[in-house]
Amino acid sequence: MMNYLRFKHFNLFCCIFPSAVGIQKASLERSEEDMEIDSTRTNSIEEEDFSASTLIEKANRNLGKRLDEPLVMFGDIAVNTGFMNADPCTAHTCKWPKSSNGNVYVPYVISNQYSPRERSVIEGGLQTFAASTCVRFFPRTNQRDFVDIQSLSGCYSYVGRQKNGQVVSLNRNGCVHLSVVQHELLHALGFNHEHSRIDRDSHVQILTQNILPGMESNFDKVDTINLGTPYDYNSVMQYSRFAFSKNNQPTILPIPDNNAVIGQATQMSPMDILRINRLYKCCK
Ligand SMILES: [Zn+2]
Repeated sequence: MMNYLRFKHFNLFCCIFPSAVGIQKASLERSEEDMEIDSTRTNSIEEEDFSASTLIEKANRNLGKRLDEPLVMFGDIAVNTGFMNADPCTAHTCKWPKSSNGNVYVPYVISNQYSPRERSVIEGGLQTFAASTCVRFFPRTNQRDFVDIQSLSGCYSYVGRQKNGQVVSLNRNGCVHLSVVQHELLHALGFNHEHSRIDRDSHVQILTQNILPGMESNFDKVDTINLGTPYDYNSVMQYSRFAFSKNNQPTILPIPDNNAVIGQATQMSPMDILRINRLYKCCK
């Protein structure tokens, strides 16, 4: 069922650059489908167990300050020391290069820390990008820049292409899930969190009084380039309403409809896919 939806939306979102009308039509269509799916969902913490948001937050709860690992900000974004401004690099310098055949080849290495099953979950996640975009993850041979997937402390990634090998941490305990693999690789491709969008205040309200002390920076806004796409509560990059809550009260409230479901994506949304296709100009 989900594969069917993904391919259906691929056709809708990739082969042509949809006009504003196209986006509206597609959004409506999606919301009808989502109504079916969402009828079984609630906004309770318990029901969010398999969303990217909850899995990442859980896995990163005890993220240590190991000196041999990068500084992690915004929940799961690694930053080089001195590189504190999260990145409008997304549309320019940190994109992965496009090959003459129109595909974007991203070399990867997967650590031998993983079991065969874990490795297949990770590889399966990487392959989903090829199903709906022009991004092709492939095993590195001798390329300079590559994603270096390892089980370090928690789930995190740099945003966009860095020089040489860039660590994407997918801890064996909690990060090896399709949604998390897609989420972290979306960071590596250059994408930020949905709730960090420059226009997020029109779509969500951040309830700072409920945020765990010290975690406020996870809710900072970034000067994102939104590629003409609307805010998407169903993005795999959207954190849940209880993210980093100190008191089980919401930290992210959708507006104007406070009851809208947010941050429960278990895989990339059609809008996530559209953004990849737009950023990397996948459509000829
Ligand atoms: Zn993230």
